[in-house]
Amino acid sequence: MRIDLHTHSTASDGTDSPAGLISAAELAGLDVIAVTDHDTTSGWSEAVSALPPGMRMLPGAELSCESPDGLGGTVTVHLLAYLFDPASEPLVAEQARLRAERRVRLHRMAARMAADGFPVDPDELMAALPPDSPAGRPHLAQALMRAGVVGSVDEAFDRFLGSGGSYLLPRTDTPVERAIAMIADAGGVTVIAHPFARARGPVITPEVIADLAALGLSGVEVDHPNHDEPTRAELRELAGRLDLVMTGSSDYHGTNKTIRLGQETTDPGQFEALVARAKPGSCPVWERQLS
Ligand code: AMP
Ligand code: FE
Ligand code: FE
Ligand code: ZN
Repeated sequence: MRIDLHTHSTASDGTDSPAGLISAAELAGLDVIAVTDHDTTSGWSEAVSALPPGMRMLPGAELSCESPDGLGGTVTVHLLAYLFDPASEPLVAEQARLRAERRVRLHRMAARMAADGFPVDPDELMAALPPDSPAGRPHLAQALMRAGVVGSVDEAFDRFLGSGGSYLLPRTDTPVERAIAMIADAGGVTVIAHPFARARGPVITPEVIADLAALGLSGVEVDHPNHDEPTRAELRELAGRLDLVMTGSSDYHGTNKTIRLGQETTDPGQFEALVARAKPGSCPVWERQLS
């Protein structure tokens, strides 16, 4: 069994369509692929329709959240949510709010770059994205690439858009405690994504993970491309101590990143343990795959 529990499609900031993502998963020899677009579930139906016999699609999303950092401040964290009811009203409302804010923010970031003389057109950028899609920095990075300003998405992050870049604007993300509760109320489970990806910017302390576990967090993403071996060992020890499920996943974004699908995988026993923590029958898109 090969299981990859964190991937993105064109429904957010990946470059493979949801159906294309499933084809790529088949080529990568995956048995289970979770589709976890940022702040949307809009890719699920196309992905599930494209499934070949024997492959399963774990319905998910990656929620943009704000968390205490454990040192007196706050920090952005990503929360992977799986097996929740996508029609749950508080969740639908909060994710729609976030997507709207993402669009205003990205337009503003592009406008600032345009004002500084970079050849990007904020209106054109936004018009090219599907309505109500979760616009993100990779979309602006792509526009900068097309304009010849940078040679790669990575370069755009290094020079302009990353946590040290002068064009990064903030967002009002969902308080992580609230996101965990909303997903639990919708019957789903939550896993903290790449918790110690320190290269991306500031991260939470182990004590914060313990606090989130007490609030109902189900797991931690241990094997992730942004975690080196000592970091993985630290997270394994922490997960064992806190009785959290340990996942592994590629965080595949198509050509927006250099990571391969299935580059990191989840142990089948851990996958079963994660599914067992969800409320059975909550997510129709999963239920249909079981019958
Ligand atoms: P945003 O959602 O607008 O805050 O942008 C964050 C997204 O940018 C994340 O989902 C990452 O996938 C992506 N990202 C962050 N750092 C990099 C990087 N150095 N190169 C490529 N993509 C990145
Ligand atoms: Fe992303
Ligand atoms: Fe993430
Ligand atoms: Zn991701």
